Amino acid sequence: TRRDKDDLRCPVVCILGHVDTGKTKLLDKIRRTNVQDREAGGITQQIGATYIPADAIRDRTKRLQDTEPFDIKVPGLLVIDTPGHESFNNLRSRGSGLCDIGILVVDIMHGLEPQTIESLNLLKMRKTPFVVALNKVDRLYSWKEDPEAPIRDSFAQQNKDVKREFKERMDKANLTFAENGMNTALYYENPDVRSYLNVVPTSAHTGEGIPDMLQILCKLTQERMHEKLMYVDEVQCTVLEVKMVEGLGTTIDVILINGVLREGMTVVLTGLNGPVVTTIRALVTPQPMRELRVKSAYVHHKEIRAAQGIKIVAPNLETVIAGTQMYVQTPEDDLDELKDEVNTEMQDVLSRMDKSGEGVSVQASTLGSLEALLEFLKSPAVKIPVSHISIGPVNKRDVMSASVMHEHKLPEYATILAFDVPVTQEAQQMADELNVKIMTAEIIYHLFDQFTAYMQNIRE
Ligand code: GDP
Ligand code: MG
Repeated sequence: TRRDKDDLRCPVVCILGHVDTGKTKLLDKIRRTNVQDREAGGITQQIGATYIPADAIRDRTKRLQDTEPFDIKVPGLLVIDTPGHESFNNLRSRGSGLCDIGILVVDIMHGLEPQTIESLNLLKMRKTPFVVALNKVDRLYSWKEDPEAPIRDSFAQQNKDVKREFKERMDKANLTFAENGMNTALYYENPDVRSYLNVVPTSAHTGEGIPDMLQILCKLTQERMHEKLMYVDEVQCTVLEVKMVEGLGTTIDVILINGVLREGMTVVLTGLNGPVVTTIRALVTPQPMRELRVKSAYVHHKEIRAAQGIKIVAPNLETVIAGTQMYVQTPEDDLDELKDEVNTEMQDVLSRMDKSGEGVSVQASTLGSLEALLEFLKSPAVKIPVSHISIGPVNKRDVMSASVMHEHKLPEYATILAFDVPVTQEAQQMADELNVKIMTAEIIYHLFDQFTAYMQNIRE
């Protein structure tokens, strides 16, 4: 494949953190300004992502450039904004994560919260570099705001008390990060980016610190991930979500990181019951935000070049598993080899199960979250064996399978740990009859807590 060191692709950025820390608001702030201010424009909302082109970044960081000049070498930033906690669990891609860099958002008034720590552990597990946004600085008592200012300009205008309160809260955050095995430092005081995480104070309400955040994301990616970011022709594409859309049928939302997709291409995907081979019928993206009289919700494309968030319309997508890779058949490719490739991805995850056949059942909404859950259950601090896994809602069949543990005289393992999936009514009924315990949660370690308490109960 041809590679050019000056032809970089867009880094993929994901935002994660505890609920209500301001993840959505931070993105809103970046977008809204640009809807009003058309000159700065070009920011587009894509399927599952927001594209911030280099021009918009240049504009947003203008004031910062005076003191911190820098060249933007990336074509822009592609920020993943799939709603809710789903997003990061989905963002799995073979070998490394789909995300090149993460933003871990922390509410400065609350410090590190349970989901912050869960996100931190996921980032560590996937070896994804990240920066910390210490958000809501405008809530420090008697904060004087300077809309969209670089954060050091803002700090320079604050009184002694604000500075003291900030320092206290920052020190506390540093301490909690250290307790979780991470060194952190204000990004402009960072003694060594290889051993200290950068912290950027921000406000999603006033926009302060956002220029700093955009600049640091560009710097870290273009300077430290140059090799990884060189554009290649070979298609690299990850499924974010599988969705029913009226008029279009079952569609998949994907992030195209490298290469070109065209209508009519043959693609291979991971399905619940094995590989899915299908043909792209349509490639669509949302209407640009400034389009006033919108005839249809989507714009159709004959072909699309990376990096983009795209909705794909094709037959037979119903069983596709979110969080997996999509492969494109090129003239040199043998279809069976592509199918093997897809099977390997599924096997990778399956191989994490306990070989003894004794353990709990685990169920999740996506392959990515299933993988994260298995990784967590296997870790030395947890060590819960797993005998059965499944993706999607908990059905009667899953309950049957879990009930087998009673025959093994292991009643505590007649348990289904269900992460972010519904339980059908019939399944719950059967579980009650067969004495199978179903535990559900939307945060991984809540499942662990429930299960540990339950084990203790049984053993007493
Ligand atoms: P998410 O759950 O992380 O996506 O959080 P949201 O973006 O929905 O924000 C949660 C709440 O915090 C909303 O009421 C926001 O208006 C508020 N919020 C978010 N960022 C800031 C901020 O920087 N300053 C202040 N004062 N409030 C904020
Ligand atoms: Mg949100």
